[in-house]
Amino acid sequence: MAKNLVAEIISVGTELLLGEIVDTNATFLSTRLRDLGITVYRKSTVGDNLERLTETIKNALARSDIAILGGGLGPTDDDMTREAIAAYMNEEPYVDKQLFKELEEKFKARNRPMPSNNTKQAWLIKSAVTLPNPIGTAPGWFVKTKDEKIIITLPGPPQEMTRMWIEEVEPKLPVSSKCLYHTIIHTIGLGESFLTEKIAKYTNISEPGVGTYARGSGVDIRVAAVGNTLEEAKLIVEPVVKDICNILSEYVFGFDDDTIVSVIKRKLDAKNQTFCCIESLTGGMLASQIASCEGISRCFKGSITSYSNEIKELAGVKSETLEKFGAVSKETAIEMAESIRKLFKTDWAVSTTGVAGPGNLEGKRPGTAWIALAGPEGTSTEFVDWPGSREMVRQRVCKTALNMLFKNL
Ligand code: AMP
Ligand code: MG
Repeated sequence: MAKNLVAEIISVGTELLLGEIVDTNATFLSTRLRDLGITVYRKSTVGDNLERLTETIKNALARSDIAILGGGLGPTDDDMTREAIAAYMNEEPYVDKQLFKELEEKFKARNRPMPSNNTKQAWLIKSAVTLPNPIGTAPGWFVKTKDEKIIITLPGPPQEMTRMWIEEVEPKLPVSSKCLYHTIIHTIGLGESFLTEKIAKYTNISEPGVGTYARGSGVDIRVAAVGNTLEEAKLIVEPVVKDICNILSEYVFGFDDDTIVSVIKRKLDAKNQTFCCIESLTGGMLASQIASCEGISRCFKGSITSYSNEIKELAGVKSETLEKFGAVSKETAIEMAESIRKLFKTDWAVSTTGVAGPGNLEGKRPGTAWIALAGPEGTSTEFVDWPGSREMVRQRVCKTALNMLFKNL
């Protein structure tokens, strides 16, 4: 009978410990395992050290059914994942004739001599099955231990690793008896502490598990449950998602793969409307976030970066307004949005103007900004007053601008 499988991910490489590269492989593996209903209890990162690596494999398999190692399959002496697995299995690696031939052919096809170092990429141990790597030189191993546990090893380069995981590893994995169903609720406009207070009745229960985490776009709420079937798990999750959405209704903007921009797009598409923006302190950041959404060109007409007063005037802001109220003012924000809306002939237009910092501007302190939204029913504004680094201030203004548009649609 199938059982609930537990896996551990072990990322190998001193460069990971030193913070020189980001461990994107472990993130990828976590989401794939989650979707397969395989529970991940631990992730570890180990440097290129045979003893510590062997120890980590041993500890992982003492607790879990599957140990997945990423990295350390290069040809050089510091890459020692094969050696560590062989040591753990107490088996002697040998050069596999077929793998060696394939490796030689790969070098020949690239018109390069094969360094003798690379021979170890043709190694195998008797308990291992090869995981072919069509785009790199390092094949992986799929190893079964005597007590029916599994060790998987994959090369570090993300393109090679992800492809091999999907094509070679997933079809070989045993089926977990448990199914995990989860929904991510995206919210915007409410801080994490206030939000968790509102849904306190759910954050301390175990089924479904409800967790919150702040991210750039706002606060996400993850609702997840394990069941014998996906349907069973879904029945636990769905009523709670529904109730949380009722409690937080005005703050919820989407679910799972939705982003604030994709939701804005959906709403504008449904109304057959368009929008544009004009940015001062955000300097194109807002337009860049908008443009990253696939298919946005139907409703997004474009943007102007009017960093200087000269360009603000060119875009239609009156010089008297700039003189009387300054560039960072409600009046300027309104004129920016209203004139660009006319110029671009859109239904909606968003403007941003403020002080990114660290210094003051026109006697106004960093972190203060005005955002205006001009639309078919008139123009509304919002004032942001929250200091931080330039990046934080600009990000916050983008978030507020998008939230304003979302709320008004
Ligand atoms: P290796 O298989 O250890 O030779 O790794 C080769 C390269 O893969 C490294 O230099 C990194 O650029 C990349 N890499 C290794 N591990 C990871 C990881 N966990 N996440 C992202 N990239 C990685
Ligand atoms: Mg390495």
